[in-house]
Amino acid sequence: MSVMESKLRSNRNEKKLHMGLSEKEAKLKLQKHGLNTIAGKKKVSVFSMILDQFNDFMVMILLAATAVSAFMGDTTEAVTIISIVIVNAIMGFIQEFRTERTLEALKDLAAPTARVIRDGVLCSIPAEEIVPGDLIVLESGDRVPADATLIEVNGLQVDESLLTGESLPVEKEIESSHGKGSGIGDKKGVVYMGSVVTMGRAKAIVYATGMDTEMGRIADMIQNIEDEETPLQKRLEHLGKIIAVGCLVICAIVSLAGILRGEELLDMLLEGISLAVAAVPEGLPAIVTVSLALGVQRMLKRNALIRKLPAVETLGCASVICSDKTGTLTENKMTVRKIFAGDNIFDVKGNGYDLQGAILLNNREIDASGSKPLKLLLEIAGCCNNAEISRTSPEKGFLDKIKSAVSKQEKWEIKGDPTEGALLVAAAKGGITKEILEKTYFRMDELPFDSDRKCMSVICGNFKGETFVFTKGAPDIILDKCSKIHTSRGTEDLNAFAKKRILKVNDNMAGEALRVLGFAYKKLDSRNYKRDDLEKNLTFVGLMGMIDPPRKEALEAVQKCRIAGIKPVMITGDHKVTAAAIARELSILGSGDKVLTGAELDEMSESKLEKIAGEVSVYARVSPKHKLMIVRALKKLGHIVAMTGDGVNDAPAVKEADIGVSMGITGTDVTKEASSMILLDDNFATIVAAIEEGRVIYNNIRKFIRYMLACNIGEVLTMFLGTLLGLPLPLLPIQILWVNLVTDGLPAIALGFDPPEKDVMMRKPRGAKESIFSDGLLGLILFRGILIGLTTLAVFASLLYFTGNTDTARTAAFATLVVTQLIHVFECKSERKNIFEVPIFNNLYLIGAVLCSTVMLLIVLYVPFLQSIFKTVTLTYNDWLCIMGLSSIGPVISSFFRREGKRRNKSRR
Ligand code: ATP
Repeated sequence: MSVMESKLRSNRNEKKLHMGLSEKEAKLKLQKHGLNTIAGKKKVSVFSMILDQFNDFMVMILLAATAVSAFMGDTTEAVTIISIVIVNAIMGFIQEFRTERTLEALKDLAAPTARVIRDGVLCSIPAEEIVPGDLIVLESGDRVPADATLIEVNGLQVDESLLTGESLPVEKEIESSHGKGSGIGDKKGVVYMGSVVTMGRAKAIVYATGMDTEMGRIADMIQNIEDEETPLQKRLEHLGKIIAVGCLVICAIVSLAGILRGEELLDMLLEGISLAVAAVPEGLPAIVTVSLALGVQRMLKRNALIRKLPAVETLGCASVICSDKTGTLTENKMTVRKIFAGDNIFDVKGNGYDLQGAILLNNREIDASGSKPLKLLLEIAGCCNNAEISRTSPEKGFLDKIKSAVSKQEKWEIKGDPTEGALLVAAAKGGITKEILEKTYFRMDELPFDSDRKCMSVICGNFKGETFVFTKGAPDIILDKCSKIHTSRGTEDLNAFAKKRILKVNDNMAGEALRVLGFAYKKLDSRNYKRDDLEKNLTFVGLMGMIDPPRKEALEAVQKCRIAGIKPVMITGDHKVTAAAIARELSILGSGDKVLTGAELDEMSESKLEKIAGEVSVYARVSPKHKLMIVRALKKLGHIVAMTGDGVNDAPAVKEADIGVSMGITGTDVTKEASSMILLDDNFATIVAAIEEGRVIYNNIRKFIRYMLACNIGEVLTMFLGTLLGLPLPLLPIQILWVNLVTDGLPAIALGFDPPEKDVMMRKPRGAKESIFSDGLLGLILFRGILIGLTTLAVFASLLYFTGNTDTARTAAFATLVVTQLIHVFECKSERKNIFEVPIFNNLYLIGAVLCSTVMLLIVLYVPFLQSIFKTVTLTYNDWLCIMGLSSIGPVISSFFRREGKRRNKSRR
């Protein structure tokens, strides 16, 4: 092969390398190598889920007692009891199965993505679809999706602690071979799956995926992450145990009293156990999980993806939301409006990323090449830039195509950082496009942007052999790095007067809510430079100010927060004046509120910050490390803090916050992993929506706890008082189990679907340590439980007295218990309104559940075949009159007391 031929071939290979795999190749490789996943924990099988439903102490005893009773001859009752237990188990299984699948689906949604170049196009795909040979692109904050060899590196540092235990990030560089024989930590030219890019950018070719990676080899060590239980679930489990003990004691007394009275031992045993099965609210934690999972789904519909279930609960307690400004409170659609260069202030016309527009000086359109400082400024803006502008992909619909053909308007979009996109657009309006720049300059190196440094530099060479450093960043930071200034007269020393003038222009632009960037450069003497010296002794060139309009929905969300007793706080890397102007527009900054800067925070002790944190509404020019200080101070003040973050350095603060919130669009993998909630649309209003849902879910949980416990107290009390009064048993075991099946299941779950009460965002946040029974809920439960019990007993006693027929009295007591509970379920819809005030029909699931339960009751009462099984008799018109009359006393009494209570509270105020 001739030298020429081999050069050509190597050029072609190089080009192919930078195009990445084709989609076709990737597909074939995916078939060959399989998904890029680490074999995970086995999913719980459907069979074991079903088996689990019977794995309850009380149910087991019930089944055992039923078996004995069947053996003794009462097979019909035994079969019925077993059928009820099975139906109950099926319902439990359906709930659990749905919850499990919902949570699984959410995990899939939150699955990581990776950036690859395929067919020459940069795209984001699920990390599990990465195959060997893929060309991946890595940036700070990314989790490396597979083991890969580096082919292009810009100041890359990687945290490999997951693999090596070494906590400090390691620098990476290109190597000719990937360090054969050496340990993981020694291989400089390779990045490993699971490690995190802490700084810089790189491109790498994947050589191992899935279980073939280093991570795959140690998979067992890292995959045992348990599903977390929420604090409420833990508390309810504890509560369930206490109630269970109480119930068992009462059930034992009921059984014992019956035996002493001469009833059959086995009958009494079955009675006691059935009562225990019905009364012990063993389903409570399960229904809480169902309702949390439902809440998670509802939040997802509002663009909030919950990663950790406890967050759903904590959201309802949030009292402060610390939010980034750019992109969360604002649209992150930047347009350069003002340019300062060579002592002139230029206006820039045009909107968004459309290239149409012009640069004006004193209201006259100018040619940028006529002003040397302006031209240099635009060149720096174009070169020190990683964004790309392109035409938007053609519309899909036929009509859309016609519309865009008729309007003949080109639409543009940017790929990359919107700030940089806006700079590219401004440069293009001045006639300096990326294509033109690429004909003059080529990039040799980059010192990437990060929120701590607040600036970025590139080293560019030109074809004349000259080398330049082009830098852009926060104006104050840039000015500190400059010793000269580029003016229309040439390069001069940057004296105090010039500095003052620049800062004044910066303040004026910031006062108009513009985000301002400074630009500087220097010429290098040689291409052998020290990276540490690159950003020293620069020449200041100018400023650009861009608008980033506040999101419309943010203003409304801020107002909602205020009414809901939640304090919104803006945290931004932007200038104090810009931040304050936007915060004022959004009503975040009120008259008595303070603005603090990162520099002021540096000077401040922790205790000082704690003293004033409650009054600060805006933190400006802060670094990610300040966010951690702020979260800690607010937490010390007793706040429940939601904190947003996107960059890799935000992860500690996001983790420390009570509710860590990461950005779905701009967030890095690391921050997403540290967060408990991801905003799919990066929008502040979504946090507020999630808080609203959090409150609704908690309220709904209180609703069904209230319902279930009051019903259970009613059931136990009926039996207990009946025994104490020496009456025959008011209910038989299968009747008790039937009531349990009919009332506890469907209506309780349906309460979990209850729509929000109108005033849910008009109340103060609840305290995080507040008991689930706070605000008088326990009193309500006991009061209504006792009323249900007394009503049932009253119906039983009166019908026994008037008819002398135990079966009729029992059937009526059975019906009363169901009816009172089905009435009570509507009372549980609100803690502030009585049954005559609540909107009865706004939850169709509840209406359906109540209808279903009513039909089930009527079937047992009136179908002759079931009558013989459930020992019921047909009730007469008069019986029903007695049942309905006595059942309606409870709601009337409780409404009366609620109204009295409210009246007294008002007059006390
Ligand atoms: P937020 O409000 O979400 O904190 P921010 O964009 O204001 O976002 P940073 O991203 O930390 O905060 O930016 C801080 C400052 O750094 C900005 O005010 C700007 O002056 C400068 N800056 C932002 N992006 C770039 C960039 N791509 N290159 C150079 N400097 C930048």
